[in-house]
Amino acid sequence: KAKSEGRSTYHFFEAGMDADLQSRRSIEAGLRLALQRAELRLVFQPLLGLGENRVTCVEALLRWDHEGRTISPVEFIPIAEETGLIAPIGEWVLREACKIAATWPGDVRVAVNLSPVQFKSRDLLSIVKSALQEARIPATRLELEITESLLLAENDTNLKVLHDLRAMGVRISMDDFGTGYSSLSYLRSFPFDKIKIDRSFMRDLTSRSDSQAIIRAVIGLGQSLGMSTAAEGVETEEQLEMVRALGASEVQGFLFSPPLPPAALASLLHTEAAKQQPERKKAS
Ligand code: C2E
Ligand code: MG
Ligand code: MG
Ligand code: MG
Repeated sequence: KAKSEGRSTYHFFEAGMDADLQSRRSIEAGLRLALQRAELRLVFQPLLGLGENRVTCVEALLRWDHEGRTISPVEFIPIAEETGLIAPIGEWVLREACKIAATWPGDVRVAVNLSPVQFKSRDLLSIVKSALQEARIPATRLELEITESLLLAENDTNLKVLHDLRAMGVRISMDDFGTGYSSLSYLRSFPFDKIKIDRSFMRDLTSRSDSQAIIRAVIGLGQSLGMSTAAEGVETEEQLEMVRALGASEVQGFLFSPPLPPAALASLLHTEAAKQQPERKKAS
């Protein structure tokens, strides 16, 4: 009897399996093959240095072209993390981003997002080293973006890896700052090079004085801790002028540039380099 009951429970589950779970399953199955089918690609979104008035850094963002549509990382990264697929995918992102950055003019840095799951594998350090070596770019041109969840566990091994990466010359940024649970304490646990203020604060920056106060405070905090600050999600001139006035080091957002395919990003950098060349000659 128990057996048949078990079976009927199973059938009930199958019939009631919701669309969400089905789509998760199909994403998971597709994702397993995405690398070998070459369905993954990177787009690149520049960060404008407000003091320098040029692109100082470019963030690599993952895209998945699957069955005729492009799937957002917001949809598939969590599934990649749960299934462990983030390890090979994240390694591919690092190598590909460094390879492409090697073709850019000047010393523009490349920023790569790291999942906390990638810290679980012991060889993150050697993967980063070999990605840099293969691409022949110095460690100082690489920035790694991590989120607060990495430090949630106050995990000593994660901190050690962060310190080792930093000792190599790699820069470490705290991504989406302000969305976690105890953001402020994380700034004490590790000397980040950059704080990226989450774009949710940008949305109502011009209408809500509390958002403005928070951004002002975070930028001030960054300044006193020796960390640079980047404002994410800058979409309007008004927001740009406001974060400029508040003293942000960099801005990123659709106003300056959306994420671009590699060729378009390279041409943006070359155009900019050509404009700045004569000025530099004049000055010297
Ligand atoms: P993120 O690292 O905070 O990246 C910024 C996201 O904001 C990107 O979304 C970008 O397209 C979007 N964005 C940039 N400027 C604006 C703006 O002005 N307005 C608005 N509304 N959005 C803007 P995207 O590319 O969909 O990536 C979403 C998230 O997925 C990223 O957030 C990052 O957490 C994750 N992700 C992307 N690529 C990778 C990757 O290679 N590895 C890992 N682990 N995560 C990744
Ligand atoms: Mg990021
Ligand atoms: Mg971010
Ligand atoms: Mg974000």
